[in-house]
Amino acid sequence: MSALQQARFLSSAAAVADFPPETVPELAFAGRSNAGKSSAINALANQTRLAHTSKTPGRTQMINFFALGDAGRLADLPGYGYASVPRALRATWDDLIGAYLMERRSLVGVVVLMDARRPFTDNDRNFLEWLRPAATARLILLSKADKLSRADQAKALARTRCALDAAALTAQVMLFSSKSGAGVVETRALLDHWLQNKKPPEKGN
Ligand code: GDP
Repeated sequence: MSALQQARFLSSAAAVADFPPETVPELAFAGRSNAGKSSAINALANQTRLAHTSKTPGRTQMINFFALGDAGRLADLPGYGYASVPRALRATWDDLIGAYLMERRSLVGVVVLMDARRPFTDNDRNFLEWLRPAATARLILLSKADKLSRADQAKALARTRCALDAAALTAQVMLFSSKSGAGVVETRALLDHWLQNKKPPEKGN
């Protein structure tokens, strides 16, 4: 069974002090709000209500941690790109997520959800730029692929890869649908591979 299917809620953190210890490899999930991140986590975990969908915009500024059996952990980052979020809240987001992405030694990979109909928005680009110095694997999931024809899916893939090349950014890209299940098995396999190939950091490093 995939580690993702063993996901159990662990804790929420609104500050760095609340992060769980860096004892196991960790995967982070990020994305513009409404990109389908919660639905993707639920689909990968094969659970209907693990991550909560349709939150009030801008309210959730916490990182939710999930245990993935003994294999690792999943960190669900708050969605980015709310136009209406007050400056103060946005600063909190930047501090919390910035601290997490830049300093988390147990972070082995980041999954970024992008709506396949509108991949690589300015917010997505900013997030990836922000992630550039972090030495982690990256996977872009083009979500809600069920809403596109095959031809348009291929175009979304090509457009995203082209935008990555143009920005000199490296990431794997896959089509994904939590509704049809497209990409679920492949994504689990890749994330399991990331978890297995990265040992947790030595204590005291
Ligand atoms: P989040 O804000 O990124 O966590 O996004 P949610 O997972 O809450 O999804 C936002 C909206 O998109 C919800 O109305 C979901 O039902 C819908 N949605 C998410 N994933 C899919 C998908 O794969 N296919 C379709 N058709 N709708 C989706």
